[in-house]
Amino acid sequence: MKSDNFRDLVPYVPGMQPGFKDMIKLNTNESPYPPSPKVIEASASFNAADLRLYPSVDVGPLRDALAEYHGFDRSCVFVGVGSDDVLATIFQACFNSGRPLLFPEITYSFYEVWARLYNINTRKIPLKSDFTIDADDYIGVENGGIVIANPNAPTAIAMEKGEIVRIIENNPDSVVVIDEAYVDFGGETVLDCVNKYDNLIVVRTYSKSRSLAGARIGYCIARPELISVIETVRNSINSYTNNRPAIEMGVASIRDEEYFRAMIKKVIDTRERLTKELRELGFNVLPSSANFVFAEPPAGITAKEVYDGLAEKHIYVRHFKIPGIDNYLRITVGTDEQVDIMLNEVREMLKSIHKMWH
Ligand code: PMP
Repeated sequence: MKSDNFRDLVPYVPGMQPGFKDMIKLNTNESPYPPSPKVIEASASFNAADLRLYPSVDVGPLRDALAEYHGFDRSCVFVGVGSDDVLATIFQACFNSGRPLLFPEITYSFYEVWARLYNINTRKIPLKSDFTIDADDYIGVENGGIVIANPNAPTAIAMEKGEIVRIIENNPDSVVVIDEAYVDFGGETVLDCVNKYDNLIVVRTYSKSRSLAGARIGYCIARPELISVIETVRNSINSYTNNRPAIEMGVASIRDEEYFRAMIKKVIDTRERLTKELRELGFNVLPSSANFVFAEPPAGITAKEVYDGLAEKHIYVRHFKIPGIDNYLRITVGTDEQVDIMLNEVREMLKSIHKMWH
């Protein structure tokens, strides 16, 4: 067969999903805690006989629940199969001008993949030397759209709301997408700006703060005119996206605010302890507003060596072989117990290096 029949693509590489029973998995920013008991109840009482029917065509009950929860009309909400699905649909629907799409050079690497898939020109903007995003770099630059993860990944650093608003205000002719996958862990949302700016799309996910990565639920909120453009693309590919059990679980999760807040608090408390202890071990840890930390090991050991040493013990963190961040590790905040086991292994590694030196 001729090879020019096929597209030449470099796909996104997600974190490993190894199958070891004893593993500690701190590599894909999942929650270490189960979803709300209300979600578990909804899943247990789901009537599998209903699976003979297609799900509702516009994710009806979940869309309504999200609209009510965030205080918007349902015409402002679009739901997809994880925020990856929502983002991919937005890329296809909104970045068609031929002008370059702007996003940070170091950010969620799927943005680059979708841009290539849909033949979107890009211009990647370097971060500042402290890994922060400078709003001024996104102002007065010709573009056909802007995507910013806030907090950013994998740096975990959040941008101030006022800075994001400056970007939105100064690019009135471009769609500005703010990917708030991690915002519940300490970032400032711009959801309340959606009614004011018709060029803003805020993207959210159930995968992190709602402990539902496996259910694949993401959504975005924007003015109805933008939502209908996104919906048109969706309905030109696949009319039935989220499945029936996921829709019910998604609604149940929204109904348990108390549990949601409690789990977020646990993750934040553990993150602060993890940050402090890594710093005591000599790591450079960037200030995190997410459910993970981004950390550079002390002199004498590289990120890759720490990664390999931990993987040998079935403890998985994430290491990116990307210039500029290849001596950093992205470590998801686990339970206190998981974090302690990981820290002990790191401590042992550092001890054996010191022995070699002295
Ligand atoms: N945005 C960012 C910044 C992410 O880190 C992730 C997680 N890989 C996603 C979006 C996608 O998450 P999901 O598809 O599970 O909602």
